[in-house]
Amino acid sequence: MATAVSSTQACRNFIGGKWVESKAAKIAERRNPANTDEVVARVPLSSREEMREAIAAAKAAFPAWRDTPAPNRGKILFKAVRIMEEQKEELARMLTLEEGKAVKDSLGEVQRSINILEFMAGEARRLNGESYPSELPKNFSYTVRTPIGVIGAITPWNFPLCIPVWKVAPALVAGNTCVLKPAELTPLCAIRMTEIFEMAGLPAGVLNLVLGAGEQVGDELVQNPDVRAISFTGSTEIGCQIYATGARRMQKVQCEMGGKNPVVILADADLPLAVESVVSGAFASTGQRCTATSRVVIEESVAHKFVAMLTERTKKFNVGNGLDPGIDMGPSVDEKQMNTVLKYIEIGKQEGKLLLGGQRLTDGAYAKGYFVAPTIFDHVATHSRIAQEEIFGPVLSVIRVKNFDEALEAANSVRYGLASAIYSSDASKIFEFIDRIETGITHVNSPTVGGEAHLPFGGIKDTGVGHREVGHVALDFYTELKTVYIDYTGRKRESSIY
Ligand code: NAD
Repeated sequence: MATAVSSTQACRNFIGGKWVESKAAKIAERRNPANTDEVVARVPLSSREEMREAIAAAKAAFPAWRDTPAPNRGKILFKAVRIMEEQKEELARMLTLEEGKAVKDSLGEVQRSINILEFMAGEARRLNGESYPSELPKNFSYTVRTPIGVIGAITPWNFPLCIPVWKVAPALVAGNTCVLKPAELTPLCAIRMTEIFEMAGLPAGVLNLVLGAGEQVGDELVQNPDVRAISFTGSTEIGCQIYATGARRMQKVQCEMGGKNPVVILADADLPLAVESVVSGAFASTGQRCTATSRVVIEESVAHKFVAMLTERTKKFNVGNGLDPGIDMGPSVDEKQMNTVLKYIEIGKQEGKLLLGGQRLTDGAYAKGYFVAPTIFDHVATHSRIAQEEIFGPVLSVIRVKNFDEALEAANSVRYGLASAIYSSDASKIFEFIDRIETGITHVNSPTVGGEAHLPFGGIKDTGVGHREVGHVALDFYTELKTVYIDYTGRKRESSIY
């Protein structure tokens, strides 16, 4: 097998079952965000023509893959599970090297990817429709799931393994072929995932990988008439453009986008438990999770006590190179993201009371990375910018409210609707929160982050459009339903059905 990443970490595209050197004139150098002296990958900014070749390869591979019995497709995924399990530690280190998160979080991401692959492999034997009783005698009616064709998957950098897996696995199990365009900042995990599928025996052309810029190869994938569906995860700004383009072409599109996730803490909450969850939800993975906790909405009567405990606990959160032992939080993914975070911190200094952090870390071991101190603002107003806009970094806003109704109003005041949590022991308030909170995922007495391989994942409002991802329902996006009527009377239909 040709290796996709050579010793110089020059990355190749995977088109029609072959690892091919891009003819790209431009190469983007990806450096370790914890130590910018270290080049981790040279990423070709491939051309539209290279993307067109990948789409053509996927189109050519579709009929044979569609006609491969679904359980046989599933067997290839089961092989991929075994290979990924063998590579778990190595994959986690690679993930940390290119994305920056602490290696314990990378291990969690690899395990979740394995779980999703395993679940989807099993779905290959459950790719069923439904049968229905007919209004007519000796008639049989049922639905069957059919694949769509070529799927385009466009993924962000913050879960560089898990998100490609959760798109590609259901697409393939359902009998589609696929072209993956991962984020420019994190090519290595996408390459390794593709190699794993190759090693598992996926036929040539069924999965293709093209590296490059969103405006070039990403746009070609979205615009190309041979691509029948796009699954996108990334910013709301880009998702909105892709959704509009898809709508003009009557293309099936799903977009999972930004978040501004609240934790509501009521006066009767277990405060030490809430502190632990808020710290990990806000600062693990450097706040660069779409489900990261970015707002605490807390009843005034316990706010003072909570904030004191939160600040003390956060001081013990270890920031550093994610590959080092004992590290809880790594750097921002790159200079641009770090500068966005620092810009919001300056805005926050005008809008709230800075309790902790509030600056870039530059001393000693931090000097060569994009490290920002875990930052907490108190007395933040519901409609201030730091409480409304996605920052995507280790910045937490505390919003104090008078009561439960005010808490709900504040929690729902944002354009996004991905994840939320409530800490309370009052059953009626908890159920009222579950009814009224405007998010696609909610947690009770547990952090905003995390999800399981067999449960749906996704948001509402400006976070998500289209079908949910992950779990059984993911297959609703990757298949079309065909309704079948079979008349076995052998006679002309007597009654009329409309
Ligand atoms: P991004 O929108 O900048 O990029 C996402 C992907 O889209 C990348 O592969 C990029 O190259 C591509 N792209 C950019 N412009 C394009 C274009 N014009 N046409 C086609 N493709 C294009 O997002 P990002 O910075 O990589 O990721 C961070 C964002 O992702 C955050 O907003 C975060 O909340 C969101 N996110 C959401 C979820 C979720 O499930 N809701 C999960 C993870 C990340």
